[in-house]
Amino acid sequence: AHLDGCLTCRACESVCPSQVQYGALIDEVRGALAQNVFSATTSLNESTQPKAAQHRWTLWRNRIFSQRQTFGRLWAVLTFFERMHLGGFIRRFGGRFGQALPPQTPSRLPRRFRPNQVANLQPANAKKVGLFIGCTGESLNSDAVRASIRVLNALGYAVEIPKVQVCCGAMHQHGGDLERAAALRAENRTVFGGADLTALLVIGTACAGELLREANSVPVIEITDFLAEIPDAEWSPLPPNPARVAIHLPCSQTRMLKQPASTERLLQKIPGLKIVPLATNNRCCGAAGLHLLMYPEQADTLRTPKLIELNELKPDFVVSANIGCATHIAAGLGAPVVHPVELVAMGL
Ligand code: SF4
Ligand code: SF4
Repeated sequence: AHLDGCLTCRACESVCPSQVQYGALIDEVRGALAQNVFSATTSLNESTQPKAAQHRWTLWRNRIFSQRQTFGRLWAVLTFFERMHLGGFIRRFGGRFGQALPPQTPSRLPRRFRPNQVANLQPANAKKVGLFIGCTGESLNSDAVRASIRVLNALGYAVEIPKVQVCCGAMHQHGGDLERAAALRAENRTVFGGADLTALLVIGTACAGELLREANSVPVIEITDFLAEIPDAEWSPLPPNPARVAIHLPCSQTRMLKQPASTERLLQKIPGLKIVPLATNNRCCGAAGLHLLMYPEQADTLRTPKLIELNELKPDFVVSANIGCATHIAAGLGAPVVHPVELVAMGL
């Protein structure tokens, strides 16, 4: 057994009789292993290091996956191949990266929505919120960003998306680079702290969990939870939608943020929507950040019960408030998995 077998889902914390904070423990141990601090007393070598700390994976993480704009440019190339009807070729022959792609790739975030120093889309006197869009916000998760802006604008919020926001540090935190993770969180605190905001809204439950590790000068709120809390009286009535919707609950939403009901409460604002409960929501889907790329076999095995359940239930929509889970499930399902805010935006 290897410590890397742990997905940091923290399900064990809820059953541990001694209330051991296992998630924090394993992050620290991985950090120590990555720096080889045990080498004086034990015979550790590279195979005992977390895979995420190995050169190849730190390169991918630091140069591509945690760089929003670089990832966005690569995504533009992929979108071009999709338009040339070569998407199937990439999925088939692109190794694990190809397999991990969702069946439909959203196009890159349009220029008018791209992060800018001042992307204020409402009159200057509107309440202003900041939007943290994550490393996939200009690419893989661009539809959720567009939907969030539409919904927030409809509710009367100005949305500011500072271009200089950086990665939340989740991949670094769980991959043994605690120092870099803390530095990234500090950088985001500086960026958003100086922006005169009512709140900082985070798209992505895992990113929200990371940004909440320390106190912030503005309230940091995961966007599904923020919208769910807005009283019905402040919403223009949404049109009925009789669709059946299955909610996948990311571990970061249930165990890190401890907000398992946010998605359902938000979707209840859509009249007629039927929520289909998922029995497999008590376990990790296997995505766990880079885990789905580093350990494909384990990631796919853990995803299988979820896919079986979804294939039996055949909902009209599957939603997830975390892009990692959404991508992993969509790739296995062969059908899109959308952010809950996208369902709300469909009615605007
Ligand atoms: S995979 Fe989840 S439940 Fe298992 S040890 Fe890791 S955090 Fe705990
Ligand atoms: S005390 Fe340790 S071994 Fe026992 S349940 Fe908690 S974490 Fe697991």
